[in-house]
Amino acid sequence: MTEPTLQSLLRKLPSVDALLHMDSIREALSNHPRKLVIESLRYAIETQRQRILRDPESPDRVDASPRFVARLALEHLQSSSDYTLRRVVNATGVIVHTNLGRSLLPQEAVDRLVTLCRSYNNLEYDLERGQRGSRYVHAEAVLCELTGAEAALVVNNNAGAVFLVLNTLARDREVVVSRGQLVEIGGSFRIPDVMRSSGAALKDVGCTNRTHLRDYEGAINERTAALMKVHTSNYRIIGFTAEVTLEELVTLGRQYRLPVIEDLGSGSFVDLSRFGLLGEPTVQEAVKAGADVVTFSGDKLLGGPQAGIIVGRKDLLDQCRKNPLTRALRVDKMTLAALEATLRLYRDEARAMEAVPTLGMIALSPTVLEEWAQGLAALLREADSRGVLEIKVRPCFSQVGGGSLPGQNLAGHGVAVSSTVLSPNRMEMLLRANKPPIIGRIESEQYLMDVRTIQPDEWPIIREAFVRMLERAEGREETS
Ligand SMILES: *Cc1c(COP(=O)(O)O)cnc(C)c1O
Repeated sequence: MTEPTLQSLLRKLPSVDALLHMDSIREALSNHPRKLVIESLRYAIETQRQRILRDPESPDRVDASPRFVARLALEHLQSSSDYTLRRVVNATGVIVHTNLGRSLLPQEAVDRLVTLCRSYNNLEYDLERGQRGSRYVHAEAVLCELTGAEAALVVNNNAGAVFLVLNTLARDREVVVSRGQLVEIGGSFRIPDVMRSSGAALKDVGCTNRTHLRDYEGAINERTAALMKVHTSNYRIIGFTAEVTLEELVTLGRQYRLPVIEDLGSGSFVDLSRFGLLGEPTVQEAVKAGADVVTFSGDKLLGGPQAGIIVGRKDLLDQCRKNPLTRALRVDKMTLAALEATLRLYRDEARAMEAVPTLGMIALSPTVLEEWAQGLAALLREADSRGVLEIKVRPCFSQVGGGSLPGQNLAGHGVAVSSTVLSPNRMEMLLRANKPPIIGRIESEQYLMDVRTIQPDEWPIIREAFVRMLERAEGREETS
């Protein structure tokens, strides 16, 4: 196309001023800050200008009409005013999904959060003595009651808990750990790195698959500060293996007067073996076995808010409390409010099983899940009025996630969708672009939603999303 036509097309692009007079933009101005609206208009004009310039052969293929540019601007405005942290529907079947916010809080914890955040509270005020108090007392009593430990301390997360414990008890000294337990959790939490940055020196002993008590004993010297056991929460070594039990390590620790630290990772209060989940020691067991310090997460199997919980010997935890790092790792009132409410549920295990969503989702039986999947499938078939989707219920496996119970799957059911007009990838993309986004997975060429992690009140959201997805798919058919 000739130069003058290109120029005339560029000139046809509407100005910001002209767009500002359009009804749709005026309406936007009443709901959004003027600055953001103008920014979006500039963005839309510039986008179309670039498109014209990139297509010099036939720049008239680019829509330069004010209506189109305004629509583009409004779309941009909408996406730039969305929250970046948003709710999503977790249809992955991974219960403690690290990318999707880990555990859902129990209703009791949410209510506590709301109550305590809307009023002043005694976070650091001793109501009996009428003077300054400590924020650390709030969850401590219930933690000691539940775990049988002498003392408890809550910090920002379990990585922080491990860091604080090592920095307090082992800085400039050595900590003996089995080579089979040098875990990387992901998100750059690696036991050797955490240890190095905490100032403790790692003394790794044994072999990847086998470590014996004599390996630990042989590594003890005058620089040794502690013996440490790390729960290999996200992988499993199988075959010709040997691990030293916590009890054996405790006996050795007592003999050499060395504290034994156990990083449990998930840290459950409930024995999950009755759900077929094996090998996840409870916090009570670790305390009972004599571990001097035990650390675990608040938002993995415990099902509470993000937190790092340290329980154990009072003299050692008092040392941690005095470490200036504790201030840097401290939790806020929201964490304490939600944690205390979650912990109190565990006073009655049956109640915890009902009220803690993470536990509830683990406990769902395949029969119930099949019923749910049938229900959701029926709802989605209703949404598919033209019958372009094939919607089936099929067995699938869910996971606990959060790096707990690796290789152990929970049998359940999902809704599998396939179609001749929509590829599984396109379905995944459109549902992920929904508001709120729906996150499922693709398995055997089908789009699969595991009903275990879908909350009952989310069914209508998924139905709506399917209606919109089909509208878009059909719109695409017409234009192509
Ligand atoms: C998850 C995990 C951590 C880190 O806990 P965060 O709460 O994510 O900080 C540390 N150690 C082990 C063994 C873990 O599984």
